[in-house]
Formats: sequence, structure tokens, C-alpha cells
Amino acid sequence: MSEQKTSLYEEALKTLKKAAAVLNLESDVIEALSSPERILIVSIPVKMDDGKTKVFTGYRVQHNTARGPAKGGIRYHPRVCLDEVKSLAYWMAIKNAVVGVPYGGGKGGITCNPKEMSQGELERLTRGYAAAIAKFIGPDQDVPAPDVGTNAQIMGWFADEYYKIVGKTVPGVITAKPLSIGGSRGRGTATGRGAFFATLEAAKAFNIPLRGARVSIQGYGNVARPIARYLHELGCKIVAVSDSTGGAYNPEGMNPIALAEFKDKTRTVKGFPGSKELSAIDPITVDCDILIPAALENQITKENVDGVKAKLIVEEANGPTTPEADKILHEKGVKIVPDVLANAGGVTVSYFEWVQNRMGYYWSDEEVDEKLKQAMTKAFKDVYQTAQQHQIDMRTAAYVTAVKKIVDAMRALGRI
Ligand code: NAD
Repeated sequence: MSEQKTSLYEEALKTLKKAAAVLNLESDVIEALSSPERILIVSIPVKMDDGKTKVFTGYRVQHNTARGPAKGGIRYHPRVCLDEVKSLAYWMAIKNAVVGVPYGGGKGGITCNPKEMSQGELERLTRGYAAAIAKFIGPDQDVPAPDVGTNAQIMGWFADEYYKIVGKTVPGVITAKPLSIGGSRGRGTATGRGAFFATLEAAKAFNIPLRGARVSIQGYGNVARPIARYLHELGCKIVAVSDSTGGAYNPEGMNPIALAEFKDKTRTVKGFPGSKELSAIDPITVDCDILIPAALENQITKENVDGVKAKLIVEEANGPTTPEADKILHEKGVKIVPDVLANAGGVTVSYFEWVQNRMGYYWSDEEVDEKLKQAMTKAFKDVYQTAQQHQIDMRTAAYVTAVKKIVDAMRALGRI
């Protein structure tokens, strides 16, 4: 493991230390919170299409289960390593506590490049991974879901392998499944919908009028498209969007549905009729009222932060703001809905899926939407109140809110 990779988890834990200082936590409590409960590293031999066997490395980290079973996605990416999975598992524990779903935190991953693998190879890899970790997961132990590089089909293969191993159908073992095998309504748009509800609350709390507000979005994938649509329906103007190939800008606003159709047809948002061309990073610094980074981590940095003009930033992506940039934004008075709050709608509807699986009774679109609204609104208000109470920024407040809930659970169990 390289030194740089080792430091990712150490970096992640800085937020814990900041929250611990606000909460006056003792060093032994911080140590207990910093130590993942279980780390699995598995070798997965896969018969490739050329007849040769290739061995992949898979991980599953259960960071903390005091509040409930571990919960978090599975990432298929060439850069997956233990240090990254540990960090992601910790962030899931925080996110689940912020939004109040009764889970601890977990995350998994396989070091592989799914873009270079056939469907057959991906299926064999997924089944091998499910078999390798099956003893340590389950609806009451650890409930995976998709993340970068994985999708509903992969969840289906994973579920099937698990059912065969345990000899029964247990749909609550994994979430974001296809609807036909117990997926929840509303899961596909849940992250965007949740971020939209958080934006409504932020606009009220920070006194930012939404009608006519100019919105700039970096990324135009799964999480960006729904929020663009909901904000447009509310009367906001989508003035800029981008993807990995470039961007589009129109100060009069662009229609998000037409943009999605254009991107599906041309594979880019660049060249959208009536727009001016932007680079992939430009939406971060265009003139706007609300900025929504919805692509990758580390996009708002100390190099471009001075150019940020938005009054409000809603972090749909995970980790889009570097710590240095975050500090500068705070000093400039820019309001931020941090990632662990803004994008928690996905895991919230995953929780709803798990509840429905366990009841064997399924909710309508309207029921899911109403419950998601309630959960996101409450999570925002809790974090905002914590920020007011301690006079701290929203990101630190989110961590304080979460860490307090995890510590309370650990104390109730007698673990600390
Ligand atoms: P996605 O692959 O569907 O979309 C990503 C978008 O970002 C694409 O439009 C891509 O072209 C664009 N992009 C990639 N590199 C870019 C660059 N350098 N500049 C500008 N645009 C770029 O992924 P997604 O599911 O929408 O996830 C986006 C972010 O949201 C990630 O950080 C992810 O971790 C986070 N997130 C997703 C979910 C979910 O439910 N999908 C939940 C929580 C958090």
C-alpha cells in the first residue's frame, strides 16, 4: 500500500476528531470510533472468457454496527484498495447516522475494471465475491448496495448467489435490486430527490429565494439529472451543466429533460442548442446562486475556490470539496449542504427497500416519496440546529450530529 493511500483514512478521521472536540469526547472513545469492527480481504478466482483464471482481490469493511447492521455499497474500480474501502465505510456510518436510518456503516469493493470485462466475467466475479463474504453479511449483519461501477443487475446476481448459499430467498440481504425481485419504487431517483428536499430546507434556512435562482451543476449522470428536473419544475434556471467531455452554459436557463435527451443521443452535454461551450470544471465557477457538484471528489479546490460565486453549495457528489477549499468557502460565508447530508436520500430509500423486503409488503411511489421527504427534512433540521447550537459550520455539525448518535448507541450497548 502506498503512503498516499494510507493517508486517506487518516484524512477522513480528521472530521471525527473535529466533531469529538465539540462533543468533548475522551481519547479512548475516539479510538473505539476510529477502529473498524471487521475487515475482510478475499481472493476471488474468476474463469475469464479466454479460459484462463484470474484472481481478483475483494474487500468488505464493517466500520461500526452499534446503530444497526453495517450498510454501504460495493465499488468495482481499478483504484479500489483497503484504505479507500475503510474510508468509505466510515463515511457510511456517519451518513446513516446523519439521516437517522438504523444502520451502522460498511463498504465493499473489488479491484477490477468493469469497463473491460464481459457480462459473463462480471457475473462470475460477483457470484465469487458474494460466496466469499456470505458468512459475514445478511439482513441483520451487513447489507450491501451498488456504488461506482456496480448496478441493479449486479445486485441481482449477488442476491441469487446468497439465496443459493443460505437455501432461502432473503431479499433484505442487498438493496437497489431490480423492482422485479423486491427493489423499492423511487430508488433510481432517490439521491437526487433527497438532495432536492435538502435544497428546499437550505433555501428556507439561509434565506435564498428559489424561484428564478440560477443553478449550476457539474456532472449530468444518475444523481444530477433528477435534481435538475425538480429544481427546474420549481422555477429555478439551470444555467450550466457539464460532464466528463465538457459543458453547456445558457444564462436564460436550459430544459433539463431536453438536456438529458441530448446527452443520451450525443453522449455529451456540450453543444446543447442555444448554449455556450464550457469545460468540464467550469460549472464550479460560473455566475450562479446555487452550485451542485454531482460528479467526482476534489472538484472545488484551493486553486478554483476564489472563483466560486454561488451562495449555496449542495454536495450531491461524495467529497467534492477539498478541506482547504472548504475552509475558504466557510470564511467567505458560502452556505454548504455537506455530502453526508445532501446525498443521503439514496441510502434512505435503500433502507425503505430493506423494510419492505422484511415486511413482504410494498409501498407506492407516493408513500416512498413522502417518507423520503420527512427523513431528509428532519435530517437537515437536526444538522442546522446543531450548527446553530454550537456556532459551527454545517459540515462539522453533520459530523457532530452523527458521532453523538453513534456514541450514544455504543454507550447503551456498553461498548465504551
Ligand atoms: P454517474 O456515473 O451516473 O454520473 C457522473 C457524472 O459525472 C457523469 O455525467 C460524468 O460524465 C460526469 N463526470 C465525470 N467526470 C467529470 C469531470 N471531470 N467533470 C465533469 N463531469 C464529470 O454517477 P452518479 O451515480 O451520478 O454519482 C455521482 C456522484 O454522486 C459520485 O460522487 C457518487 O459517489 C455520488 N453519489 C451517488 C449516489 C447514487 O445513488 N448514485 C448516492 C450518493 C452519492
